[in-house]
Amino acid sequence: MAVALLLVLVAGTVASASTEAMTLRVELPMAATLPPPEPGVAPAASAIVPGSVHRTSMKVSATYDVRVRLGIAARTVSGRAQLTVENRSGGGIDRLELNTVMARLGGLHLGQTTVDGVAVRPVIDDQTIVVPLGGVLPDGASAVVVVRFRATLRTSITGSSWLFTRANGISNLYRWIPWVSRRTPFDRPNHGDPFVTPVSPKVTVTYVTDVPVVIASTGQRTAISADRLTQEFTATDVRDITTAISTYRTTSATVGDTVVRVFYRPGAPASALLTAAKSALSKLEARLGAYPYPTLKIIQSAGGYGMEGPGVAWIPTGVGSSNLTYLVTHEVAHQWFYGIVGNDQAREPFADEAMTDFVARYVLGMRRASRCATAALDRSIYRYGSTCYYEQVYIQGGNLIDDARKKMGSATFWGAVRGYLADHRWGLSHTKTLLAALDDATSLNLRSWWGSRFPTLY
Ligand SMILES: [Zn+2]
Repeated sequence: MAVALLLVLVAGTVASASTEAMTLRVELPMAATLPPPEPGVAPAASAIVPGSVHRTSMKVSATYDVRVRLGIAARTVSGRAQLTVENRSGGGIDRLELNTVMARLGGLHLGQTTVDGVAVRPVIDDQTIVVPLGGVLPDGASAVVVVRFRATLRTSITGSSWLFTRANGISNLYRWIPWVSRRTPFDRPNHGDPFVTPVSPKVTVTYVTDVPVVIASTGQRTAISADRLTQEFTATDVRDITTAISTYRTTSATVGDTVVRVFYRPGAPASALLTAAKSALSKLEARLGAYPYPTLKIIQSAGGYGMEGPGVAWIPTGVGSSNLTYLVTHEVAHQWFYGIVGNDQAREPFADEAMTDFVARYVLGMRRASRCATAALDRSIYRYGSTCYYEQVYIQGGNLIDDARKKMGSATFWGAVRGYLADHRWGLSHTKTLLAALDDATSLNLRSWWGSRFPTLY
């Protein structure tokens, strides 16, 4: 079918003088030099082959080129995400599963979606856009997927709304770019993060706004128009783009080779945030190794919870001064556990939250006992209650890791942690991989001591 269509289009160029037709005519001699395609094989322009394998994978290398138009007061978000995806999964795939909170929080509408220029029919399932590839993308082959979207920011910070809202003069867009992921339920009984995001080697986002604004985004700003309404950001080795927009003021300082910049609105404790971030970054780098990006942005968000993004920490409007240093340190520590080494945050929250909270409380000297009953630490976020999720995964999990440190000795422990970070840099790891990295670094048998806390793993 596709071959026949191509011939019709080429024949049509003979009588046409349009620019588009000229392009097609140029392709004719090139096509003529190729061997004739086998029946049923797609044109050489696409690597997609007919058929189905009922398989997808996160083991793809995806670059993202996104253009988004934002109506600030109207809270409108519309744009186009172009993904160039190379299949590295070891087998064919016939669909992509793209995560975006716009599907659950933004009233997402999809415009035309294409794969190598051919329109396909995506399906929205919970927070996942399932994009059929129109055939099978073989291992090692690439395709270009374009998703057009339209959504509206919420107006409150209640429930999960703070992830995709405009409130307190700040637009929050968390986990919004349709991103290669694993199909994961959005609803959960606590504030757990229902996200799984593999790292992209390169992302470009062009923001177009209807009024001049300050954009606090993952990545580095690489261009701004004279009218300040168009701003381009690029990022390398990131597992998300996290965006907050306001009429921010900024204040910054340098730690080693990193610029720490606080984005804040009048009334926010900017200097306390900057002090906490500088201290957190230098203490964490001393234990964990170098922070990977040129800038670290501490951003006043509309509200809700503290939140991590690559190169970014969101601190909610109105955070209490007694909680500020801890919250900043926790979110900065996520740059290593979530950022450098990722994990399935929905199904294995221990891997990032327990490690993150352990290191934050360790460098601050803030360890404390849990206020909830002892629980297993290997559950998904869907299986902890709202009251005790934090106390069990963060506090009990962090205390277990600190006990391991004491048993192993600090030097051995931190060496094992740095080895784990190096071995799984930019990957997606697991709770068991983290525990094994600690256990393997010592002659002690740690698993006989902690095994009962992870009944599905030991
Ligand atoms: Zn956290």
